[in-house]
Amino acid sequence: MANSPLPHSAPEIAAALSAQRRVLLVGDPGSGKSTLSAALGAAFQARGEAWACLSGDPGNPAFGIPGAVCLGRWQNEGWRMLAYEAICSLNAGRFRLPLVMALTRLQEGSAGLPLLIDAPGVIRGVAGAELIDALCAGLSVDAVVALGDEDRPPPLSRELTAAGVPVYRVAAHPAARRHGKRRRARERSALWQAYLADAEETELSLSRLQVVGTPPPRVPGSAAWQGRQIALLSSHETLVMGQVLALEADRLHARLPPWPKAQAPTALLVRDAQVDAAGLLTSAPALQGPPLTYLPPPSLLPPSVPQDATGPRPAVRVGLLDAALINGVLGDPLLHLRLRHQKRSLLLDLGEARRLPARICHQISDVLISHCHLDHIAGFVWLLRSRIAELPPCRLYGPPGLAGHIAGLLRGVLWDRIGDRGPRFLIHELHGERILQYRLQAGIDTFPPPLARAVDDGTFLEDAGFRVRAVTLDHGTPVLAFALEPSMSVLVRKERLAALGLAPGPWLTLLKRHILAGELDAPIQLPDGGQAPCRNLARQLTLSAPGKRLVCATDFADTADNRARLVSLARGAHTLFCEASFRTADADQARRTGHLTTRACGEIASAAEVEQLIPFHFSRRYEQQLDGVYDEIAEAYPALTRPGTALTK
Ligand SMILES: [Zn+2]
Ligand SMILES: [Zn+2]
Repeated sequence: MANSPLPHSAPEIAAALSAQRRVLLVGDPGSGKSTLSAALGAAFQARGEAWACLSGDPGNPAFGIPGAVCLGRWQNEGWRMLAYEAICSLNAGRFRLPLVMALTRLQEGSAGLPLLIDAPGVIRGVAGAELIDALCAGLSVDAVVALGDEDRPPPLSRELTAAGVPVYRVAAHPAARRHGKRRRARERSALWQAYLADAEETELSLSRLQVVGTPPPRVPGSAAWQGRQIALLSSHETLVMGQVLALEADRLHARLPPWPKAQAPTALLVRDAQVDAAGLLTSAPALQGPPLTYLPPPSLLPPSVPQDATGPRPAVRVGLLDAALINGVLGDPLLHLRLRHQKRSLLLDLGEARRLPARICHQISDVLISHCHLDHIAGFVWLLRSRIAELPPCRLYGPPGLAGHIAGLLRGVLWDRIGDRGPRFLIHELHGERILQYRLQAGIDTFPPPLARAVDDGTFLEDAGFRVRAVTLDHGTPVLAFALEPSMSVLVRKERLAALGLAPGPWLTLLKRHILAGELDAPIQLPDGGQAPCRNLARQLTLSAPGKRLVCATDFADTADNRARLVSLARGAHTLFCEASFRTADADQARRTGHLTTRACGEIASAAEVEQLIPFHFSRRYEQQLDGVYDEIAEAYPALTRPGTALTK
C-alpha cells in the first residue's frame, strides 16, 4: 500500500489525483468528506478537468437526496445531481448489498468522466470491511483518499492493502468539524424537505405494486408506516421517492414530487428511513421481535431483582461455561462463571455480592480479582462469611498487593471463637514472570513469606479441561485482565450417531466429560443397554475443536500499550466482557480516571475480532441513556448484541 500523506490543500490533492480515474473517499461520519469532495470539485474545475461524483452515503449525502445514492457533476460551485437510486435507508452498513448494486448501476451514467466516490461512513467492523472490498472491486477503484488522524493507521488498512490500490492519507480539513449526530440529522432532514418541496399528496394502491425491501407489517393506521421514506420503481429504476402520510387498508397516502409518468411503477420500495415525530429523517426503530433471553436460568442467577436495579444483567453460554454479570452493566463488577456439569463456580471480581445465589457459595473454587478498588472487592466479606465451614482453601488471583489487602480485611474482624477453623485462602499475585503465593487464614494473625514460582505466559491456573491466563494492564495501578481457555471442546457427530442407531441423551454429556478429563478407559453405558469403552466412542463419534475462550477486562486506561496487550489476550475469543465506563463526550473523565470510552471498548473488540462483546461497568450517570451508550459502542463494533429487555430497568 503506497501510504502517501498529502498536504491539506484541495488544489494540491486534486493535482496528485489527476492521473486517477476512480477515486474512493473514505472517512468517519463527520470527518469532512463532504467538505473535501466539494473543495475537490472546485479544484478540479480550476484545473480545467471535468469530474463526476458519486455520493454513496445515504445517511450523510454530500449532495442530492438522503436515503438515496446520487451521481452528480460540478456546476456553479456545487455538485449538481444528474441521477439517483433510492435505498430508502440511511444505514449503509445494514443494506450494503443494495447500496453497492445501486452505485454500480449509477456509475454507468458518468459518461466516461473520472469519478470521485464519496464512500459511506461505515468504515469499521465486518460491514465496513465488506463495503470497502465490494466498492473497490465493483467500481474498479484505482486510488483511495483516507481522511482521518494522521498518527493512526487508517481504518480497514488491511482491506485497503489487500485491494492493492494506492492510499493517500489526508488529515481532516481544519474547517471540517465533527458534527453531532443530531446536527447531521437536521442537515439531512433539510435536504429531504428540499427534495419534497413541490410534492403533492398521492394515493397509491398497494395491490397493484410489489412491495419490496423491508416493509413494516401492513396494519392500517400503523405508526410504523407513517413518515416512511418510499420509492416507486420500474424494474430496478427509481422513478421517484416520497414520504408516507398514512396507510388505509390497501391504500397508501404519500407525498411525492411530480415525475415523468411515461413509465408505470411496478414496485414500491420501503426500508427503514422514516421521518420521526420531531420531523427528523432517521432510522426507524427496529420492529420488536421476541426479546433476546437476557436472564439466565435461576441456578445461575436468582430471578428476583432488588429495588436498586443495576441495569440489564447479561448472561451467556460459552462452551461448557455459563457466565452472568450478577450486578448488571451498572453495578459493581462481579462475573459469575459456572462450570456446568461440575457444580463448580469461579468469580471474576468481587463487587457487592448479595445477589449471588446462596447455594453456590460453597462451590466457589477460585476468585479472579482485577484490582482492589472498593467496587471490585466489596463482596469479600460475603465470601468470607460463606467460607465459615469445613471447606478447602479458596484460591484468589490478582495483581501485586492483593495478599496485603486481603490480610487487612481479615484483620478487620474479631475472630476470638474460631480457633484454627477460620476460612483459609491461597492467594496468588502475578509479578511479571513470577507468581507469589501466600497462605492466609482468618483468625491467625501471621503473614508468612510467600512461595515464588516462575510463570509462563501469565498462566495462573491449569485445571482439568481449562486454564486461566492473565495480562497486566495499567489503570494508574496494575490491573489484571483474565482469559479462561478451555483446552478443547468435544463435538458429537450427529450423522455417526444416527448411523450407529444410538439415541442422543445425557450419556453424551458423560462421554464428553470423560474425554475432556482424559479418562479414555472409562466404560460408558449406551442408551440401547450396551456398554462401550470411552476410547472407542471418542474415535467413532466425536471431533475435538479448540475450546471457546472467554476474556474479561475492566478498569484500564485507553493507552496504546493496554490496547496491544488486551488485543493479544482476546484475539479470536468467543466472548469479551469489557468495560466501557464513559461515553465519548466524557472522554476527559475517562482519561483522568484511567477508564475506557464506549468507542475505545468497541474498537478493542473489533481489533481483537472477538465473536461477541459484552460491554459493562458503565458509569451510573448513564442509567437513563443506555441506548445511547450501546449506540456508541456499536459504531465501532457493529456486531454488538444488545440486551433485549427494557434497557432502563
Ligand atoms: Zn471499577
Ligand atoms: Zn478501578
